[in-house]
Amino acid sequence: MGLTMKSGLRICRVLALAATGIAFLASGVGAQGSKTAAVEKAEKSTRPKLVVLLVVDQMRGDYVDKFRGKWSGGLKRLLTEGAWFRAAAFPYAATETCPGHSTISTGSFPASHGMVANAWWDREQQKMVTCTSDPNAKNMAYAGGSTKGGDSAWRMQVPAYAEELKFQTGGASRVVTFSMKARSAITMAGHKGDAVAWFDTSGALVTSSVFGSMPFVEEFAKKNPVAQDFGKTWSPALPKTAYLYDETATGAATIDGWTTTFPHALRGKEGSTEPDAAFYEQWTASPFADTYLTKLVEAAVDSLGLGKNSATDFLGVSYSSVDYVGHTFGPRSWEIQDILVRLDKDLGELLAFLDKRVGAGNYVVALSADHGVAPIPVDMQKTGVDAGVLSLPELQARIEKALEPLNYAKPVVARMAGNEVYFSEGVYGRLKADPVAMKAVLDAISTMPGVAAVYRAEELGNGTTPIAQTRKAAVLSYFAGRSGDLYVSQKPYWLLDSLPEGSKRVTGTSHGTPYNYDQHVPVFFMGFGIQPGEYIEPVTPADIAPTLATLTGVTLATRDGRVLAEALRKPAKKDSTLRH
Ligand SMILES: [Zn+2]
Repeated sequence: MGLTMKSGLRICRVLALAATGIAFLASGVGAQGSKTAAVEKAEKSTRPKLVVLLVVDQMRGDYVDKFRGKWSGGLKRLLTEGAWFRAAAFPYAATETCPGHSTISTGSFPASHGMVANAWWDREQQKMVTCTSDPNAKNMAYAGGSTKGGDSAWRMQVPAYAEELKFQTGGASRVVTFSMKARSAITMAGHKGDAVAWFDTSGALVTSSVFGSMPFVEEFAKKNPVAQDFGKTWSPALPKTAYLYDETATGAATIDGWTTTFPHALRGKEGSTEPDAAFYEQWTASPFADTYLTKLVEAAVDSLGLGKNSATDFLGVSYSSVDYVGHTFGPRSWEIQDILVRLDKDLGELLAFLDKRVGAGNYVVALSADHGVAPIPVDMQKTGVDAGVLSLPELQARIEKALEPLNYAKPVVARMAGNEVYFSEGVYGRLKADPVAMKAVLDAISTMPGVAAVYRAEELGNGTTPIAQTRKAAVLSYFAGRSGDLYVSQKPYWLLDSLPEGSKRVTGTSHGTPYNYDQHVPVFFMGFGIQPGEYIEPVTPADIAPTLATLTGVTLATRDGRVLAEALRKPAKKDSTLRH
């Protein structure tokens, strides 16, 4: 998505599944009653007790190389004890939170799972819809908080690994997911889940009628109101000499009540004496939110006894604060380095906690990110490289103007949504039959500064011939009916900006392109069944779900990713002289 706000903060049918496997297993156990205990024991030892999926929103792959020297907690442990895929990247164009989490959770790309963006233009309703908005769901706030709307994964066309796990264990597995963002918590769990919770912008911990509320979350929310963090200050954790780059990042934006330089006080608007909207915005963009989420996770493990069941449990946590910090201060800020240092500490404590409760080696952890982020354009410009901001309202005006002399009724554009252009009803069909008008539109777009290419829907929906890298990435993001009529690809280091023409442009940065700074993310595995080491093969985050599925004996019907067999422990070789 483009920059749409004052600060970085605001930017931002299930298949019927055959149950034959379960039925076979059940009858097999019944037929061999005396072997049941032994079979169960063997099964237990060949499955992790808990799958932990961690997502760090907007964590670039190169942060590991650049900042690992400052880590001593969980991130360091993943590096030293885990399998690190250093060349992991999303291969598609829509590098946003909802597509990224859906890809990690299902093992498929947006062209398959259909979560093409955080929000898209609904042609039937003639309005923007978010990827999780569900007219049949009703959100519910914990601890007397307020919320609105309704969210679920009903628009996700592929089941998540977590829901397949639960289905294929006959419901014995528990699925628990948390995040600051609805689209992250929900897509990690899938269409159902036992405890799925996220935060409303009002600061309330919420879930929806589709998932239902859990008593332990209610208790946690009551005991730990976010307001308790009011008055705290986020100061650098390390000595000044430990940080790379300038203390004030070039082109940094601000968050209401903050400056562009440390320290950042969580006191809301200037003069506020109690938590206000600005305070919740500050809190979400601070390490205190990550710590809060970690405590909630620990409460879930203890309350539900995760990892102590007959079946493998699933715990998904998406840490959102890095995204808010990255949008505002950029990838070359002290803030981004500092929040990673603090997240490393939180993750270290979480892993130590899981060692105690579940047992080291009894659980498997996967960590990745939903997307990376671009450098701030004005910062990049210092190097002499072409970088900038592409105004979507200006682009829209160009399209309208191009069709003005050709007798098209205004407005021809129904909506510019990120890189997608949606025409008003009937317009695109008419353009396809009108080469002169189509050329006028495509010329108007491609001559705009910052535009690299423009692709028509029909070039993305059935791309089989060898194609340019950006178009290939757009093909993997294209889902007929949801994606736009045109896809506008900006040049590298160019951001999209939705601010109305003539309004004062804020800086800060964003993501959502097919370029490596947005696509390259970390992929780590650690624990049960994992062969530690550094892996240089290019892989994608869609490989995470198939790999977890293999470790837990789960079958995924469709997948675009592959099993990362190179990082799985090989069974011990039998000492045999037999030749075949
Ligand atoms: Zn973002």
